[in-house]
Amino acid sequence: MIKPETIQRIKDTANVVEVLGRFMSLTKKGVNYWACCPFHNEKTPSFSLSPAKNIYYCFGCHEGGDSIKFLMTNQKMSYPEALHYLAEMYNIEIEEEEQSDEAKAYQAERASIFAVNDFAKNYFVEQLNGSDEGKGQGLRFLNDHGVAKEVVERYAVGYISTQVDDFVSHALASGYSREALLAAKLAKEQDDGSLRNCAKGCLTLPIFGNDGKVHSFYFMSVSQQYSGQFKGLANNLAYNFQKAIYGFFQAKKSKSFNDRYYVVSHPLDVFSMHQSGVTNAVMLCTTAFTPEQLHDMKRITSDVTLAQRSFVLDIDHIGAVLAKGIHLRIVEFPEGMSPDAYARANGSSQLQQYLEDEELNIVTYAIDKKMATLVADPSKRKEVRADLLRLLAFVPDAIERDAYSEYAASRLGENIQPFTRDLHALLHK
Ligand SMILES: [Zn+2]
Repeated sequence: MIKPETIQRIKDTANVVEVLGRFMSLTKKGVNYWACCPFHNEKTPSFSLSPAKNIYYCFGCHEGGDSIKFLMTNQKMSYPEALHYLAEMYNIEIEEEEQSDEAKAYQAERASIFAVNDFAKNYFVEQLNGSDEGKGQGLRFLNDHGVAKEVVERYAVGYISTQVDDFVSHALASGYSREALLAAKLAKEQDDGSLRNCAKGCLTLPIFGNDGKVHSFYFMSVSQQYSGQFKGLANNLAYNFQKAIYGFFQAKKSKSFNDRYYVVSHPLDVFSMHQSGVTNAVMLCTTAFTPEQLHDMKRITSDVTLAQRSFVLDIDHIGAVLAKGIHLRIVEFPEGMSPDAYARANGSSQLQQYLEDEELNIVTYAIDKKMATLVADPSKRKEVRADLLRLLAFVPDAIERDAYSEYAASRLGENIQPFTRDLHALLHK
């Protein structure tokens, strides 16, 4: 816990003009500053900043507050994240309430992981752009897959060589400890006690947390045999794959062509979508949404669209998302293509159009899919009906649920009354 004195110091020091000036261009008129409002669409500025009161206020949509509120509402940071951001900006040392030794050790290990991860990110980027192997293997792979330089930079893509220990040797020589390398899972210990790189001959994809720090990495093979296959590191004190969402940090900052998030299943899809102007594509580090991921997602948007190569219809997975009040949609690609394959076959500009045209509501999609299995095997009627009831029970909004019930009952060819009666029985169980 941050000490209240520190919080007060941060609040007193943070200057609303300096903080918001990092995210928008401001014009001074009289004593105040003005900008076009980042919270509503407008052509003439009605968003004002008062240096005297140290607050912002929009005369159009009435959004207002201090620097912390801005970071939380506009930059989607949590309260602690906003405090840490401002402390770093103003070189304010964060004093925490007295901690146990255990808590101190935990904090110290996390800090050492962030430090060595940041070092690794920079080293891998240098390798990609500066070494013969990085250029010959890594950049060639990215070029072959049509990944633009701007995207490579935005996602801080790098390269780890085929040598067994160049990275760990360089890290140790630069003063990073064995313990830190092992804690971050960036090194593997051999039987003789020596350290080796955690991967070889791969593109490196840093996984950023909401705080903008590198929490872990994906490694994507560029060899012919395993081309495009990728795997992540094991959990560490600073990283838990059940909480992480690849590309979320970058997506959070973008204003894309609509405000939903697209969930894809491969880093190359994230890149391809980005190049097509869909800068809010992310990839889960798990096979289905976890409660932690849903919590983070819901802070930012209520609209999520799945755009995955292969999608397995799982009522409980879909239900968990719907129950959060997220509107879930799906886009299927022809012949099991990935978004990346589609963009490369049809052109980047076509991808955005396709996403808009082909988007389906997940509930009616699931009802249709279930009904298709029934056509193939009529003996499954009871099972399919039970699945549909279970799915609809997850829908939190009663009006939406009624509309879906009518659709499901009509597809099943039965009256609405017995269907809703069974649904209510399920809801009140
Ligand atoms: Zn406004």
